[in-house]
Amino acid sequence: MAEVFATWAPAPEHRYPGHPEGPQRLQGLADLPQTADGTVWLEPSPAPVEALARAHDPRHIAYLEAVSKQGPAVIDYAPTYVTPSSFDDARRAAGGTLAVLDAVLAGPDRRGFAWVRPPGHHATRTQAMGFCLFNNVAVAAHQALALGHGPVLIVDFDAHHGNGTQDIFRHEPQVAYFSTHQEDIYPGTGAFEDEPQARGRIVNVPLPALTGDDGYRRVFEEVLWPWALRLRPALVLVSAGFDAHWRDPLTRLGLSALGFAHLARLLLALAAETAAGRIVFVLEGGYDPQAVAESGRAVWAVLHGHEPPPAALGPSPYPEPDIAERVHYARRLHGLP
Ligand SMILES: [Zn+2]
Repeated sequence: MAEVFATWAPAPEHRYPGHPEGPQRLQGLADLPQTADGTVWLEPSPAPVEALARAHDPRHIAYLEAVSKQGPAVIDYAPTYVTPSSFDDARRAAGGTLAVLDAVLAGPDRRGFAWVRPPGHHATRTQAMGFCLFNNVAVAAHQALALGHGPVLIVDFDAHHGNGTQDIFRHEPQVAYFSTHQEDIYPGTGAFEDEPQARGRIVNVPLPALTGDDGYRRVFEEVLWPWALRLRPALVLVSAGFDAHWRDPLTRLGLSALGFAHLARLLLALAAETAAGRIVFVLEGGYDPQAVAESGRAVWAVLHGHEPPPAALGPSPYPEPDIAERVHYARRLHGLP
């Protein structure tokens, strides 16, 4: 049985009145670290500045430290906020992710989940954006490369496009990026044709509203799977946002907890096929606390080799659009047979 490593960094002081990205998101999962399920829990120590600086401009790191110290403030239009604890919280989110990464890289058949806040995938090399301060997954991918583990595949199933991750790796041949996201919402990037210089390495599949369990299954099986087998990554990182759940208040996609579990199963199989099982899930968005709890537990169960527990919210009540043409287009664009 694979070993499971995890970290828990809920950042209780990083919060802003009325803001959806707050510690309440993780409340329904707070018992996970106390559950006797064999997980090895690792301390989320602050990431060293040198590790952050592989993904971020040193001026961005210095800016976040300075602006956090000044007290609560909104620093971009998303709105992204900081509090006096935010610099340390963001360093712990990245550092916890690195702790899980290091453990997973230390041997075969290891997997992990970094339950961290604030999220990361909108943060670019130079800017905090979209509730994200440091790009946790990008910091981890750079660390893996520095340790000689490449190529790295990043799969991002958050409902929003990970513009920051795409930005950081747009010229890095050793990192491949795959994103499914709702089209025409924040941050506006993530078209099929983005980053033509990285065709076949950066793959975006924008999806219409209400795309749910069936549509996601098709995209993962018919685009991600054959493409990733061609890449042969040495490590899989997952930007695991649960805001593609049908009940999320910020988006209009249609995944259910069982749909997320199915994606997780497929990702584990992919990691087993290409990367000696090495895979790390990193929490991104998800703004309905019950949907986050049910989806998170479903993925967590799959990580431990169990069936997902019953989910009270059930499947999406809305009919799904047909996404067959998008699947064909993505396959053609990226040269899949
Ligand atoms: Zn999101």
